Amino acid sequence: MPSPTSSAPLLPGATLGVLGGGQLGRMFCMAARNMGYRTVVLDPDGNSPAAEVADHHLQAGYTDADALSNMASMCDVITTEFENVPAESLKFLSTHKPVHPSAEAVAIVRHRIQEKDYARSSGLNPAPYALINAADDFDAAIAVTGLPGILKTTTLGYDGKGQQVINDKAQLDSAFSELGRVECVLEKKMNLAMEISVLLARNVEGKVACYPPAENEHVNGILHKSIVPARVDDALAEKARQQAIGLANKINYVGVLAVEFFITTDNQLVFNEMAPRPHNSGHYTMDASVVSQFEQQVRVICGLIPGDARLTSPVVMINLLGDLWPVNWEDCLIDPALKLHLYGKHEARPGRKMGHFNLLSADINQAIQAADKVFNKLEN
Ligand code: ADP
Ligand code: MG
Repeated sequence: MPSPTSSAPLLPGATLGVLGGGQLGRMFCMAARNMGYRTVVLDPDGNSPAAEVADHHLQAGYTDADALSNMASMCDVITTEFENVPAESLKFLSTHKPVHPSAEAVAIVRHRIQEKDYARSSGLNPAPYALINAADDFDAAIAVTGLPGILKTTTLGYDGKGQQVINDKAQLDSAFSELGRVECVLEKKMNLAMEISVLLARNVEGKVACYPPAENEHVNGILHKSIVPARVDDALAEKARQQAIGLANKINYVGVLAVEFFITTDNQLVFNEMAPRPHNSGHYTMDASVVSQFEQQVRVICGLIPGDARLTSPVVMINLLGDLWPVNWEDCLIDPALKLHLYGKHEARPGRKMGHFNLLSADINQAIQAADKVFNKLEN
């Protein structure tokens, strides 16, 4: 009898389910539809960006038993667009249909200590870190990390939320209180020369397609810009790719995985965190890669081989946050090498990711200049 891991691939016409209806779910559904698949989105929000483009919207909470049963019966395979889906829901779904990535993989990735433990045991190099459950842990933690450090909640943090820089023990105490005295990790604050991320897709048979690293710039803790190829030397770029692939193999990951790294001022490669889904820093792949990260998600959850991750052009991606609204789109579209992607969100709020653009050029410096020029115009 064939094992579940060697079953025939799901081909166009099959129905793909996604937990979460934000922009990542939307772009996944659009890729799936382009390829002839049907899509089902589970999301409680009536105005979910993904539901707008899906074949079917199950509007319910992520633990709603009826909705989960419906999802399991409607879909041939199920994936997720965010890491905070309740583990029980993923486990329930996986008793009925294949779920990629698995509940176990998502559980590792959503927990900052577990992901660092896995990274370290796979030979990667996270910043020194220590668990903090109570004020009693402060001295031992500081002894491990030194100061300054960064205190982060072990789960539920994103876009720089749920973290604070720590310069002394008193500050650690007040930050821990402000974060609600929930389980936290204290890590050493590294001196960063650059941040990069490596995106890959891995299928059930362990076949991997890995993209070149993206160079990422954050503003106020939120990704602002990705530059690809990253302006790092080839050996370091290759080392980051090999480390990301090693980590995916170690956790037997199936799906699209993003791994964030720091490059320190003394040129060390430091593991930061990973995400069990397509990633904002991979949005450039929609226009500047043979196969985009969302097509990869479709391919690998369906048991197909990962697509070609080759870069077809140097590219700069810039996020469009709600702060820019209202936008004069002519200022954006005047550049003929700019590809605009908007997520159909009805309300613009500061810090809210409303869309992004990719700007392509044969020369990366020209792409950076042109992208900055458009962005500056939108800001004014
Ligand atoms: P999030 O889940 O919000 O993306 P991250 O752990 O990636 O959280 O942290 C957000 C940003 O904060 C990083 O991209 C980096 O700029 C900075 N940062 C986080 N951890 C460290 C660290 N240990 N040393 C230096 N900078 C850090
Ligand atoms: Mg991050």
